[in-house]
Amino acid sequence: MEGPFSLTTTNIDVKVTKKSPGAYELFISYDGPVKYVGRSDEDLNARLKTWVGSKYKYFKFEYCSSAKAAFEKECRLYHYHGGSEKLDNKIHPQRPAGTDWKCPVCSIYD
Ligand SMILES: [Zn+2]
Repeated sequence: MEGPFSLTTTNIDVKVTKKSPGAYELFISYDGPVKYVGRSDEDLNARLKTWVGSKYKYFKFEYCSSAKAAFEKECRLYHYHGGSEKLDNKIHPQRPAGTDWKCPVCSIYD
């Protein structure tokens, strides 16, 4: 992951220059724990901008080679950072409708 970077529209455009699938982490404080994990299947830059102005002030990101890779990366981040017990994510990452993708960590989609 690259970052943490301050979560502003300008900064997102400076740091996330490719239109690409990707995964991200959000933070409330610069040196605090990861509070939320997410992904975009198509455009990480645009997804991150939807969080500008929220309680989250910093982000890390990683480009992924495909939507499926972004889903699997998000799943790994979700479990690594303690799942819904530790994160603000209320539920396990969802796979896109119409796919049969499985979580690489748990059996939720088996
Ligand atoms: Zn899982």
